[in-house]
Amino acid sequence: MTGIEKIFYCIIFVVSLLFFFLNSKQKRTKLPKLRITNSRGESLDKLLQEKKGQTLSSNQKAILTNNLGIYYWLPEEITQPWEERILSFLASFPITYMKKNIATEEMKTIVAAEACLLIVNRNLSDYRHLKVIHLWEDEIKDNKNVRGSASRNEINLSWKFLKESVTNARDGHNLILHEFAHLIDFADDGIAQSIPVSRFSGKFKKWERLVDEEHKKLMNAYNSGKNYSIRAYGGYESINGNKPEIFSCGTSAFFERGARLKRESPEIYKAFKEFYKLDPATWKKRIV
Ligand SMILES: [Zn+2]
Repeated sequence: MTGIEKIFYCIIFVVSLLFFFLNSKQKRTKLPKLRITNSRGESLDKLLQEKKGQTLSSNQKAILTNNLGIYYWLPEEITQPWEERILSFLASFPITYMKKNIATEEMKTIVAAEACLLIVNRNLSDYRHLKVIHLWEDEIKDNKNVRGSASRNEINLSWKFLKESVTNARDGHNLILHEFAHLIDFADDGIAQSIPVSRFSGKFKKWERLVDEEHKKLMNAYNSGKNYSIRAYGGYESINGNKPEIFSCGTSAFFERGARLKRESPEIYKAFKEFYKLDPATWKKRIV
């Protein structure tokens, strides 16, 4: 074998090794495919039953206490149902980082914990249409300046932005609560119109009226230069006349500015209270 041939075979060997390594890495980062079936809600609620009595690891608890501002405002009686839901959530929904299966335990625990606050007194089947949560370093890919988005099956979140938004529990803005509220709004009919109950529910008309009234109230407040418990983005109206942000911005305000929302808009506060089966206006900061 000549020297040139030796070099040639060496290059072939290195290239093959590299190909094998990349290929096996790709397999490792492949995501599980999730199929949505009619019975998905039932199996999610069954899983939640199976997790009864289970608690988070000490590492997961430390992630919550170190990162979530709202942690210190939560009443003690919701800790157990909250942890059961977080564990069920983590076992049910894939969470990616930059579309790869490399999200850290910190990332997954923070997302699951905030998402499960919304359903701490409800069922996991609220998320029956969810297939995947994608986390992005900052902006969401192909969506310039967008830090969060939700469809019926998918949530996209900016990791940088969500980390900031979960730290402050009293500014009325929380990216994860906001996007998962959209998911709940989508679940019943595939439409985000701020009515989280089905068209066949006896409460549909009431929600419809409340959303219109709240939208007017919010627009009047900001148009006259005043501040309001629900942030101004809640006034966004889509081309077809839907007002999708009242429920999601209202949800953030309900959890993070409950007392103020109750004072400024008691009827919408009451509707949220009945829906989420929680009363954040009464929560007091505790020393843990
Ligand atoms: Zn929104």
